Amino acid sequence: MRILVIGSGGREHALALALAQDSEVYAAPGNPGIGAVATLRDVDVLDGRAVAALASELAVDLVVVGPEAPLVAGVADPVRAAGIPVFGPSADAARLEGSKAFSKDVMLAAGVPTAGSRTCATTDAVASALDEFGAPYVVKDDALAAGKGVVVTNDRAEALAHADLCLTQGSAQVVVEEFLAGPEVSLFAVCDGTTAYPLQPAQDFKRIFDGGRGPNTGGMGSYSPLPWAPADLAATVMASVVQPTLDEMGRRGAPFVGCLYVGLALTAAGPRVIEFNCRFGDPDIQPVLALLDSSLAELLHAAATGSLATVPAPVFADGAAVTVVLASAGYPESSSRGDVIRGAGAADGVNDVDVIHAGTAIVDAPEPGDPGHRHLVTAGGRVLAVRARGYDIEDARSRAYAAADLISFDGLQRRSDIAAEPLGVVEG
Ligand code: ATP
Repeated sequence: MRILVIGSGGREHALALALAQDSEVYAAPGNPGIGAVATLRDVDVLDGRAVAALASELAVDLVVVGPEAPLVAGVADPVRAAGIPVFGPSADAARLEGSKAFSKDVMLAAGVPTAGSRTCATTDAVASALDEFGAPYVVKDDALAAGKGVVVTNDRAEALAHADLCLTQGSAQVVVEEFLAGPEVSLFAVCDGTTAYPLQPAQDFKRIFDGGRGPNTGGMGSYSPLPWAPADLAATVMASVVQPTLDEMGRRGAPFVGCLYVGLALTAAGPRVIEFNCRFGDPDIQPVLALLDSSLAELLHAAATGSLATVPAPVFADGAAVTVVLASAGYPESSSRGDVIRGAGAADGVNDVDVIHAGTAIVDAPEPGDPGHRHLVTAGGRVLAVRARGYDIEDARSRAYAAADLISFDGLQRRSDIAAEPLGVVEG
């Protein structure tokens, strides 16, 4: 199969690695790591017509759109309209991630277990919702906010100030929610509009520092499977969350084709949805794909063509996988570009290890007196992820850290407790 992957982060590198097992992969714009397994092309990822034109030119059988921004912008629509199978929801279906108020409305209509919530358009409405639910307070910007839209706090004034900021900076509404207590897990469902298959659950580590301290990030590490979680978790969530949501989206005329990412809190009363995303999560998808033993290309193509029922459910290898993210100086508030990365090739050469690129670039001679050499340098907040497979989590974890030890760059930040015992505890 010929496949075009849209995006340039760690998620897209992990997807390209899995797709390249049995397919010819193109990526746009991609990154230096993706370039090792795919042919890179340039494209404006927010320009659906340009993506459709590139897909036609390359005569691909499938387009996989990785990130949320192009999906919410509707990039999948012109591709689908051009008759090219695309794994990724339409603009209408991507509202499940693009609008928190819409996703709560769908959950309510579908009877999906989630936090009680109020969608508020004024500060007064926010104030009364905060008092209704009590502390800890949860306030969410309705719109996509690159991870900065949510505030969870015991400080009522801070919660109110965040709501005020969202409402004055362009959002027409915010969502105030009941606080959910319990460990968080990610379940990815591959959907074809009417049916779905779950992938193996995973967990990620969102805070920058060990022990779940410091500010939230895009994710500093992840692992799969979750030996501490209920064995029937995926089946429960498919029946109580994913299928009812697909049915409800179908009723609304916006069938969901793509990855429905269910972010859950495992509360004392059972799994509750914290959020829906309309794409794979990074880095949580990385260990899941490392363990996938069946064809990702066949699975995503079947989803994109409404024929999931004709292919077998995905199969996962025994054992475990762990991903450790290496971030640049200043992350998550800022990031450092141009720091020379050493040892990535050596780490990637270790058995059962992949070095996954997120924010990297190749430049000529960044250091004085070293002309004529091409160097891998930092080019973003999350720079690389070191992913290892092992016979269990502890084995995968020690392999990942041993390989990560081979990599250095100025200002490198990484957590030392990814997938360390005790697992399944509430962070931060
Ligand atoms: P991201 O960009 O990381 O996907 P987001 O901005 O879309 O996040 P959410 O995932 O809804 O927002 O919330 C971010 C984090 O805030 C969650 O991972 C969770 O830790 C916390 N959180 C959100 N809602 C709740 C809730 N109702 N109860 C407890 N914690 C919550």
